[in-house]
Parts: sequence; C-alpha cells; structure tokens
Amino acid sequence: MENNSDIVVYRLGANCELDDVKVGNIYEASVQGFANFGTFVLLNNHIKGLIHNSNVITDHKERDPIFVKVRNVRDNGNIDLEEFIPEIYRTENIVKKSSSARLSDLSRLVGRRVSLDVEVAQIKQTSGPTIFTFVDESGSENGAAFIEAGKRAYPEVELGDMVSVSGEVMKRNGQLQIEVGSMRVLTEDEMLEVKVRINDALEERAKPKDLPFLVESEVLEKLKPEMQKVAQIVRKAIFTAQPIIIRHHADADGISAAVAVERAIVELIRENGGDPDTDSHLFKRAPSKAPFYEIEDVTRDLDFALKDNVRFGQKLPLILMMDNGSTEEDEASYRLAQVYDIPIVVVDHHHPDESTDRYLKAHVNPYHVGGDFGVTAGMLGAELARMISPAVEAVVRHFPAVAAVGDRSEAPERQLYLDLVSDDYSEDDCKNIALALDYEQFWLRFNDGREIVKDILDVNNNHERHKKLVALLVEEANLAIAAQLEASMPHVSEKILKNGAHLFTLDVEMYAHRFTFPPPGKTSGEVHDRQCRSHEGEPVVTLGIGPDFAVIRSRGVLMNIPEMVRELREEIVGGGVNGGGHLVVGSIKFVEGMRDTVVKCLVKKIGEYPLDS
Ligand code: MN
Repeated sequence: MENNSDIVVYRLGANCELDDVKVGNIYEASVQGFANFGTFVLLNNHIKGLIHNSNVITDHKERDPIFVKVRNVRDNGNIDLEEFIPEIYRTENIVKKSSSARLSDLSRLVGRRVSLDVEVAQIKQTSGPTIFTFVDESGSENGAAFIEAGKRAYPEVELGDMVSVSGEVMKRNGQLQIEVGSMRVLTEDEMLEVKVRINDALEERAKPKDLPFLVESEVLEKLKPEMQKVAQIVRKAIFTAQPIIIRHHADADGISAAVAVERAIVELIRENGGDPDTDSHLFKRAPSKAPFYEIEDVTRDLDFALKDNVRFGQKLPLILMMDNGSTEEDEASYRLAQVYDIPIVVVDHHHPDESTDRYLKAHVNPYHVGGDFGVTAGMLGAELARMISPAVEAVVRHFPAVAAVGDRSEAPERQLYLDLVSDDYSEDDCKNIALALDYEQFWLRFNDGREIVKDILDVNNNHERHKKLVALLVEEANLAIAAQLEASMPHVSEKILKNGAHLFTLDVEMYAHRFTFPPPGKTSGEVHDRQCRSHEGEPVVTLGIGPDFAVIRSRGVLMNIPEMVRELREEIVGGGVNGGGHLVVGSIKFVEGMRDTVVKCLVKKIGEYPLDS
C-alpha cells in the first residue's frame, strides 16, 4: 500500500513538452472531450492523453478538473492514463524557465511542439497568415500565425521585439516553419536577459575564421583586424535577417570587389535557410557612377529600404561601400542615412579623409596602414569574401588579378595575384575581363546586371560561354575605342609644364563622341596610355576637358588631386570646384562659365608638383 501523504500531484507548465510526462506520475489535468472508448484530457494547454473507459472512475463534463496517473507513453506520443483520486497529497509545479529549443534544432523537431525565446526580424502580412521571421543565436526561421485571412496576427508584436513563441514545427514546400500557437512579448527583464544571450552568441558566431590571405602582403596583414571586423558585421547582418546593400564604383575594380562579396553573402544567406535569388529584399548590389556616394544614390537606397520596411516589415539595411565611400564627398549622403540609423561600412582604396570616419562602423583602407591604391578594392573584396564565407574561394580567386589590371595597380600584390591564377587566366585574359566589365557596365548604367556580370567574371560554371562573351565584348569595346581615338588624337595639344612634365590636353566635349563608349574618363585614359607609350620613361599628364569637368590622368608626377581640389575651391571664388578621386588619377567639376580660369589654375598647380624620380 502506498502512503498517501507522500503522493505528489504535478502541474505541467505551458512550456512543458512530452519529455516532461513521466510514467507512474500523477498529474492535475482537465477534461477535454469524450469518445466512445474513453475520455480525453489535457495535461497542459497542448499535451493530451486518453483515459480508457475501463479506467474512468467518476462522471465528468468538459473542462472539469481531474487527476490522472500515467500508465504508458507510447512511441507515437499517445499517452494512456487512468483516473486517480488521491486523499492526501501535495502539488508541485513543473515549469520550464528558459526556452527548450533553438531555431537550428527545428529540422530535428518536425511534427513536435516547441517553445523558444527569439527576436522578431521581419513581419510580413500575406493574403493568408502573418509570416514572422524569427532569429536567435543559432539561426533564423519563419513562423506562420493565423487569425483570419489577410489579417495581422498578434498586432501587439512589433519588428525587433523579443518574444516567447510556441507552436508546432511543420515542413511546407520543403521549408521549415513554426505554426504559431502562442506568442507573447517578453517583459523588460526577460527581454534584457534574452537579448544579451542572443547578441553575445551572435557576435561570437559572426566572427570570421582566421584564414591566411591568398597572397603574402604586408599591407593586407595590417588590414586584417579591420577586415575581420567588416566580415563580422556582414555575417551578423545575415544571421539576423538584416538586408544588405552593396554600393560600389561602376568600374572593373569596383565590380570585382562587390561581386566577390555578393557571392559570399548569397552563399551565407543560403546556408542560413534564405534564398536571395528569389527573395531579393535581403540583398542588393548597386553600382554608383561617381567614385563616391551621390545624393541620388542614397536617395534611391533610402526610398527602397523605407518602402520595404513598411511593405514587407523588413529591418533597415546595412550599407557596404566598396571602391568608394572614404572621402568627404560621401558625407552628405552619410548624414542622410544617419537620420534613419542605417549602419555603413567602407572597403575602399581611394585616399581617405579623416572626417568621414565618424559616420562609419568600420573602414578598411590601405592608406590607414601605410599602403596605397595599388592594393585595390577587388583584392580587398575577394579576401573579405573568403572571410564572410570560405566556400567562395574557388569562385573569386581570380577577381583580384582582374581588379589589379583594371585599376592599373603597381603594388607588389598585383603580380602575386596574377601568379596565383596564371594556370587558368593569363594577364591578357584578366585585362580582357576588366575591359569587358567596363564596357558592359557602361550599357548597364545603374543596373547591377547580375547574371551577365557573373558570366563575364566566369562564375556561372559555363567557361565556354564566358570566353565567347568576353571575346565579343572586348572586340566591340576596342572598335569603339579605336573609332573614338581616331577622331580625338589629332585634337590633342601638348605643352611642357614648369616641372618638366608633358601635358596633353583634349577637349572631350568638342572632339569626342558623346553618350557612347568610351565615356570621357575612359577616352582621356586611352589618350594618356598612348602618350605614355610614345614618351617612355618621361612624366606625362593628360587632361580630358569637358564643359564643366576635367579628367586627370598622370604618370611620374607626385600630385595630390584632392588637395588641388580643396585649393581651387578656396582660391577661385565662384568656380564651384569639387571632385576628387585618387591622388594622381581623378576628376574635378566646376561651373561652365569658369572653365578657363579653373583649368588655367589647375595646370599651374600640376606644374608645381615634384616629379617622381
Ligand atoms: Mn578602384
């Protein structure tokens, strides 16, 4: 005989699961309903058992309290109970304090009920249920909650809230999903604890692996901590379903940099259960015409981000600037983004302005560690991509070599990256890819041309098509360049500057085709290349002059274009001078009516810089 005073009756808390039900234990339950063969009872709000008729002692109606003893828990989860009437007993609550599961466990829990503490990363109303995207330290998954078709479920739950959610794990069209049974916003105290737990674990998980670089480079080694910081920020954004926008300069170097990181981000989003190819809201790559973040660009980005925020309940994005973003000229756009607390990180090799850093979460730039523009954005981008997702290495290995020749790097890294891929891509192959990228981007204008660009960069697993496409684009580009130069070269004038450098000047407005390839910058570059070849070993400066701008290309003169721009702006009242770029390659803008004054002053300044001996 049992001693009745030792009898314990258990009460199962709402978060308790089948695992908490023990054979032989007595539970406080409530009658749920009746069948021919017995009585169904609920042990908490979702665990159900059956008392066969032969084990029912008293009469009941629905919702009556009842004590039951567990006879058996079958493999299929069915619970056999018998009614039990204790005389003397004590009760004990079984409470689950912390959540029992993590989002990454769900694939093993299909068909089971789970309860979790998570952050709400997106709320999307469909014509059926409301879809919540949940995030914790282990991953991200969707939950579907339904009250009425097209009606927002749990309207008190907002984007960014920490919630306790429970429901059944289902698989729909191959995708895991929680059928939300209950959801409650955590109290201030609970929230703090969960937030700290999730955030600490996410920071840890977002830390990139410490891989050696593809080539030996002192500059890269010194940049490593900051690159890892950017990789961690990008990885964390992916893990928390924060959209990412890459803004990049629309040339071969900028495209290589951005596409390398694009491939890594896409890979990691996919590993994390998302599909960036069909859900473009998580990632966007956008070329910028100017080598800085124009107000037009930031306006577009804000417009999309804010609409997605309202329409799709999305978080505001992380903006990653590549091959631009490190100068004063970006700051007006950064201030605009700052109004919305949009975080910005920069990976650039243009000469940086110190004042810009106050707007940035992180900034990778070779100038910070004694390097220069010779370590190009494409090199930094490919190495960063490996930090974000090591799996992309094979895909992006040749990007730095393309970027190096595209941006005419003279750093030692150029040859190292060319050597790295020389079995698969010769230096000429790399030059052709770079030219094809420049040519195609000209026609793509503001579009990212994702699939065409992937073919040009040979990442689409169709090497034959890549070769055909690049050969054709290079042929077209060269024909266009030849036609342009045939018209332009006779109009190039020459003079010798005070410092002894050759100055070649071309009016690109009057003596070059407009609105076609090559654009003024590229036309000036081609003129410059020809003059350099015919003046081997001598200092050469080429100016392509338009109605309200001048493009500067130079060799062998230690000039500083951003510095000249600042001086011209101060010295020429009403000149409206601005611009920038690299130290020795760049462009400046001015008002058309002041063109002659500005150009005269600019030429004088160039002639005062020392030569590179
Ligand atoms: Mn560049």
